[in-house]
Amino acid sequence: MVRSKLGNGEGVRFWLDVWMGDCALKDKWPNLFRLENNKTCLVSDRLKVDNDRVQLEAGWSNLLHSEEDFQQWNQLCVGLENVKMSTTEDKWMWSGEKNKNFSVKSVRKLLRNGDAYGNVFVLKWISWVPLKCLIMAWRAVVELVKRGVYIPNTLCVWCDYHEETSMHVLADCIIAINVWERIGKWCGLELIYAFEIKDLLQVYKKVSGGKMKRKIVHGVMIVTMWSLWKARNDSAFNGKKVAIGDVVSSVNSLSYLWLKNRSKCNTIGWKDWCRSPLYML
Ligand SMILES: [Zn+2]
Repeated sequence: MVRSKLGNGEGVRFWLDVWMGDCALKDKWPNLFRLENNKTCLVSDRLKVDNDRVQLEAGWSNLLHSEEDFQQWNQLCVGLENVKMSTTEDKWMWSGEKNKNFSVKSVRKLLRNGDAYGNVFVLKWISWVPLKCLIMAWRAVVELVKRGVYIPNTLCVWCDYHEETSMHVLADCIIAINVWERIGKWCGLELIYAFEIKDLLQVYKKVSGGKMKRKIVHGVMIVTMWSLWKARNDSAFNGKKVAIGDVVSSVNSLSYLWLKNRSKCNTIGWKDWCRSPLYML
């Protein structure tokens, strides 16, 4: 709906905003996005102009690995050949109106037509997960650091590099990324990534195969956030070194315990559960 006309790239996020082609680069080349160290980096962080040619300065956390990674890398490089940058500020265009000018009227029209959604987020309550976890997840959504309530403004206890926000601890930190990757595989889901905390709490919406599956996946997402948060507190207050395997094990066992005792799924078996939380469906 809103896209950028690139100037110096200092106001446009490389992966998240629409500035090249019709969609954000994270959707076009998810493998590369997964490897990106700084998911909110700007175009000016990644592209440098050298002799009128745009050069990519990649910020990968790992090396390109699979054939698909390399294919995506090639496509990105080809795409960048046509990119022009300038020294002027980036401009934003609104596609809701023919003249590209933004107006409240055109937003209203879009909302009425159902092409867009408001910012209203409703956390789906789920009975097999304890209330304390739901409240923690809800607070993570609404009490962002800016309000200074949730997490003090310091560096992350795990990577000691990024500012510690709830978003960072629960989604962006390399520890969280690794945990989500393993939880995603365990649940048989595609790559889990989030641009906002609420994205983690909406993952279940994309799960096909019935209501029960969605309920379990949604609960597992919340338990994962809970376990990450507990691990963060253990590191911050007890000096405990975080281990990705321990966080994942905590998700496995807590979700097993809670689902078994707080839902109709009281016959689930531990070994099968460890293989897949959806094994019985
Ligand atoms: Zn970190």
